[in-house]
Amino acid sequence: MHLRPNLVRLSDRASPRPPFRQGKTLDFPLDLGDRMSSLLAGDTAPQDVYSGTRMSRRAALGTPPGHGRYCPVCRRWYRLFLPFGIQRRHQALCPGCGALERHRYLWLYLETALGVTSRSLSVLHIAPEVGIRQRLLNCRSVRYTSIDLHDPSAAMAMDAGNLAFDAGSFDLILCCHVLEHIQDDHAALGEFARVLRPGGHAIILVPMDENLPQTFEDPAIVSTDGRMKAFGHPYHVRICGRDYGDRIARSGFHVTTVSSREMSAHSRRFYRINRLTLFDCRLPARQLPAHQLTGRQ
Ligand SMILES: [Zn+2]
Repeated sequence: MHLRPNLVRLSDRASPRPPFRQGKTLDFPLDLGDRMSSLLAGDTAPQDVYSGTRMSRRAALGTPPGHGRYCPVCRRWYRLFLPFGIQRRHQALCPGCGALERHRYLWLYLETALGVTSRSLSVLHIAPEVGIRQRLLNCRSVRYTSIDLHDPSAAMAMDAGNLAFDAGSFDLILCCHVLEHIQDDHAALGEFARVLRPGGHAIILVPMDENLPQTFEDPAIVSTDGRMKAFGHPYHVRICGRDYGDRIARSGFHVTTVSSREMSAHSRRFYRINRLTLFDCRLPARQLPAHQLTGRQ
């Protein structure tokens, strides 16, 4: 399968097409920078940082097709996208579904390279983004479940490093900006490999520092202040460097690294997508060793 050419070709031709729709907005976290500042100031409990907030309806008012910004996740036009992030990024957040640049890129990849909307798939979504979850729930051929340790809107509360699913349960795992929060990411990747069917895919995104040849981490740094200073985020446990794909591969995946820079400049501007790296991690279609076939309950 030629994943990269598909992504570039299909996203290039996905110019204005869907009709304008005035639907409901979804719950999603608002400005992360404000929340993180509030956390560091002691005004917000850690468990509240990622909780959902209903956005003002006015901010989500659409605009006629062909004008403003288009979100491929919720398939709507907006007058503008909203700023987001600790290092505030302009035109980042879809006011209708909360999709950020990385979520729009992830969805485009799922739709164009993997064809998720037209295939019969069993999907495990880790720390589900509301817009992508809604699109997948709308796909009749997709059997969908989601997990999160803290978000009560996920189907199940579960640790990614200890999944309560049988081996070979899923065709597709989505894990976007989660592993940088998990100290033992090798355990989580091992669990992904266990619960995927041979030939299945884990689509993984992490924040990457492309100037860093090797991933930086220090398990001794545990405070939010210390992590903010060392890793640039109070909840991150590492800075992922250019070797992160190799790290994923050590869990048994065949890793294809896809970059948003392979899209045309027009597509990146159209969808407001910044520099992103996506790992398409395919579990080789082979018979797993017997000890890996023992499912957990
Ligand atoms: Zn959207």
